[in-house]
Amino acid sequence: MRIIEDLHTHTYYSHGKGSPRENVLRAAELGLSAVAVSEHAGGNLFYGVRGKKLGRLNSELRALKKEFEGKILVKNGLECNVTGFGKSDIPKDRSAYDVIILGYHKGVAYTNRFAWHIFRESFGGKSTPRRNAESIMAAAEAGKADIISHPGLYLAVDIAYMADCCRQLGILLEINSASLSMSVQDIRTAREHGAKFIIGSDAHTPERVGDFAAALERAREADVLSDVVNIEL
Ligand SMILES: [Zn+2]
Ligand SMILES: [Zn+2]
Repeated sequence: MRIIEDLHTHTYYSHGKGSPRENVLRAAELGLSAVAVSEHAGGNLFYGVRGKKLGRLNSELRALKKEFEGKILVKNGLECNVTGFGKSDIPKDRSAYDVIILGYHKGVAYTNRFAWHIFRESFGGKSTPRRNAESIMAAAEAGKADIISHPGLYLAVDIAYMADCCRQLGILLEINSASLSMSVQDIRTAREHGAKFIIGSDAHTPERVGDFAAALERAREADVLSDVVNIEL
């Protein structure tokens, strides 16, 4: 088995430890064909990358693409945040980006009553997995996301509904190797509904880039390895 690409890695631009170049070097050392630096987007109040800092990151990635040409494909990614019902901070101009990841995260300033919805749910109110999944998928559709990161992390989701949307929209569900947010049963359900999967390391240090071990074990257990798009069996 070979890992083709790791599209979910972080650096010191957000709350990770290494530089973009160190992530790329690690991926090249592992023999990956491609790697993305996919930093937290600006909607995250604590470590979202925005403004001039985002500009610096984008130009650093452009330089790395050139430097590593012919060795490894460097991709510019962004891990965006759901900010409300059907809303996200996916940039309108996506031209700088090769891959857009969308996930539900804490520490985001929510709009359109989503804050109240989340507040109620996190303090023991009635859980509404279908509504949550609808909010995330509507945001993913509007922003044309490529990947949903760690489905079910911090917020319960209706995985069957999510998988149906992903199949229809051509969006991948991530089996996140740092946060195993989907159970074996969730993954099986998603596959039954036609979803395809991508494994992401969600590395916050260069050493963890391409570390797919935990996700692979879970995917193996759920018997969906042939539906994971970024490994070669
Ligand atoms: Zn995330
Ligand atoms: Zn992440």
